[in-house]
Amino acid sequence: MTPMPKPPSLPPVNPEADDVLPSGIGELIAYGVDRPGLIPLWVGEGDRPTPDFIGEAAARALRDGHTFYTRMLGIPELREAIAAYLAGVYGGGTTPDRVFVTVGGMQAFQIALKIAARPGDEVILPTPTWPNFFGAIEAGGARRVMVPMSFAPESGWALDVERLAAAVTPRTRAIVVNSPANPTGWTASHADLRALLAIARRYDLWIIADEIYGRFSFDPAHEALGRAPSFRDVWEPEDRDRVLFVQTFSKNWAMTGWRVGWLEGPADLGRIVDGLILYGTSGVATFLQHAAVVAMREGEALIQAQIAQAREGRRILAEGLGRLPGVELPPPAGAFYAFPRIPGEPDARRLAMRLVDEANVGVAPGTAFGPGGEGFLRLCFARSAADLHEAVRRLAPVLAAGR
Ligand code: PMP
Repeated sequence: MTPMPKPPSLPPVNPEADDVLPSGIGELIAYGVDRPGLIPLWVGEGDRPTPDFIGEAAARALRDGHTFYTRMLGIPELREAIAAYLAGVYGGGTTPDRVFVTVGGMQAFQIALKIAARPGDEVILPTPTWPNFFGAIEAGGARRVMVPMSFAPESGWALDVERLAAAVTPRTRAIVVNSPANPTGWTASHADLRALLAIARRYDLWIIADEIYGRFSFDPAHEALGRAPSFRDVWEPEDRDRVLFVQTFSKNWAMTGWRVGWLEGPADLGRIVDGLILYGTSGVATFLQHAAVVAMREGEALIQAQIAQAREGRRILAEGLGRLPGVELPPPAGAFYAFPRIPGEPDARRLAMRLVDEANVGVAPGTAFGPGGEGFLRLCFARSAADLHEAVRRLAPVLAAGR
């Protein structure tokens, strides 16, 4: 990227700070955010504000005087509540000392990276993927090694694990595995997860596992499980020490603006994570942590409502867009994004801008998600059915005319 021209009054800026990757989603938002009546499907969040029972808990915590400095790894009640939630969803095995509370999933990922990779080291990630992963890898000085997944209109996205293994070099330190995936909805099978663990074991790598969309699982193959497959289902006891889970309150609990998440990993890392948090953010706002305890303990009905809404949203977009001539949209197996391939317009960025201008709908261009995203668009379906029907109604003529 060309460095920004520096205003003459500024002292020298660290060129690495100036070299952070521009966000392909941010560019679209800047382009269209002020359009009256625009339906925003470009970011990964729903239209539901955080429910009152969680907001009230934050207000109560403030009134109760929870306004002081906090524990770097999180208040004990929250670490316990998270461990209990994980035990409920995945079955035992997570103890509070494996849970480190962070400023959203984003800081959890940053810390995981810091633990795994030095500047110049390589981190492998399948693409298309959430751009913050590769932006954060580069901003931290490591090198992203992107392994494109393959797409077939009938069966959707697939990861070639052998191709990923072939990308390992002596500098590789970690593999990022996001399943269910943003933006593709790709959901690893237990066989995929076993194969990835085997690679990590063979080359002594970390796995940075992002299973934040695990409850949003729509593939009938995983219906009995009630969630997407997890590394926890297949790991051997010795693997538990090489998987770092990035997690967040943002999606399940409708708390994107709260910036609360957690990292889960070996309890022995506690001392290191404590230091990284101390010299980073110095912890998550105390009263927010108290509210997060309530979200954890009382949030199951909320999560179920969010999943039901996403299931309906997925149906509306898959049917509404999937039947347009030439549009390829196998229904996503998980997460809450439709990622259709659009015929006739290979430049997804230009198409996304046209959709702002001509349909007043905000979508993210597939090019923002790394190699393999060219020609695709991402639309978040964690929204009301009414909005999604209207979005389809507006998008259909523009997408059909583009052929
Ligand atoms: N992982 C993935 C795959 C995501 O899509 C997101 C949010 N879009 C996050 C992590 C992190 O979310 P947050 O920082 O809001 O917790």
